[in-house]
Amino acid sequence: MPAPNWLDFDRQHLWHPYAAMNSDLPVFPVVAASGVRLKLADGRELIDGMASWWSAIHGYNVPELNAAAKSQLEKMAHVMFGGLTHPAAAELGQLLVEITPEPLQHVFFADSGSVAVEVALKMALQYWFSCGRPEKNRLLTIRNGYHGDTFGAMAVCDPDTGMHGIWSNLLPRHLFAPAPQCRNDNEWDDGDIAELERLVEQHHAELAAIILEPIVQGAGGMRFYAPEYLRRVRALCNQYELLLIADEIATGFGRSGRLFACEHAGVSPDILCLGKALTGGYLTLAATLTTARVAETLSSGSPGVFMHGPTFMANPLACAIAAASVRLLLQSPWQRRVAALQQGLENGLTPCRELPQVADVRVLGGIGVVEMRQPINLGDIGPKFVERGVWVRPFGRLVYVMPPYIMSDADLAVLTGAIGDVVSGIH
Ligand SMILES: *Cc1c(COP(=O)(O)O)cnc(C)c1O
Repeated sequence: MPAPNWLDFDRQHLWHPYAAMNSDLPVFPVVAASGVRLKLADGRELIDGMASWWSAIHGYNVPELNAAAKSQLEKMAHVMFGGLTHPAAAELGQLLVEITPEPLQHVFFADSGSVAVEVALKMALQYWFSCGRPEKNRLLTIRNGYHGDTFGAMAVCDPDTGMHGIWSNLLPRHLFAPAPQCRNDNEWDDGDIAELERLVEQHHAELAAIILEPIVQGAGGMRFYAPEYLRRVRALCNQYELLLIADEIATGFGRSGRLFACEHAGVSPDILCLGKALTGGYLTLAATLTTARVAETLSSGSPGVFMHGPTFMANPLACAIAAASVRLLLQSPWQRRVAALQQGLENGLTPCRELPQVADVRVLGGIGVVEMRQPINLGDIGPKFVERGVWVRPFGRLVYVMPPYIMSDADLAVLTGAIGDVVSGIH
């Protein structure tokens, strides 16, 4: 079957994420998606291992989310949030305050994950400004992190694995501690946090906050680390007066086996970023939550208002779908489903560990990672997955999946089987 005409236009005129214009890397035309399957223009169906980058946790074409979208659309798609409000924002805000750790009480709706991170950073800096301590304006983070593509977010991404290395001369100089080495399944070793501790002791007077991805580091390396590390970070923040910013844009809404990854450590942050799965993958929306202390300090100091306000803030259509998605998640047996994903991923991916070209296999909740010894050639390998009827998009040395929670054991076995096949063929 011939490729559709619009594909030529796409190839010549449209940017794709982290891609070159006129690249010969294939892009596959998708014309529909339903359940865990993507339908290509030539009629082939792919079992989706990526949940559209962590977001489509309920799969695609979800009746409850479609209904929420239609119902909101008939009322209004959008209205400005400056001086106006609407029920969808209040309903979603209330759900988020209820399900996130107790001290988080105030919600800022942003348009994407990167913007939610910008908002979090600005909140932290403006908090110290309002406290009369404007010199506390630097950030500390850990290596292998990824927090987004805008300039503020780029400055706290890992300078090497975080994809923004060429900008390092233009970005604010923040502090980087080594990434935690104790894995979530290893025994804790105090030495793991020694360097971060040293940086905090030395620099706390100029530090506003520590920002990190709790327990799971996503696009900066797909690494899992010990909850004890996060508890120690929280204790250091308390001891040395730093805010803790948890970026749960990837991990939020059950992916790690807990509703929020901070729960693995019983820790609550001062500022929390959510995105990706917030709308179940339907529309772009993110949120930055904070405590009463941060919000009240910001609002009482000078300038007395929080200096941020996107045009599409709290878009009603996105908020209505997000509220339906969160409700659907909470009503579903998501713990059981994510546990089943973990089991299926362990069973299906563990055999890859025996292959000489594989450096590591790791699984946590609904996340499965096969780390290769050598970088993967996407042009060769991408189409091999498609030929086997699955959608997997590796990056760097990582073949990784985070399937929709609704995936059946049989589909998951096809997905992991295809990964085993393709990985065995890489030499
Ligand atoms: C994806 C991601 C972001 C950026 O979100 P966008 O919606 O792509 O801007 C930030 N932080 C983490 C941890 C992410 O996974």
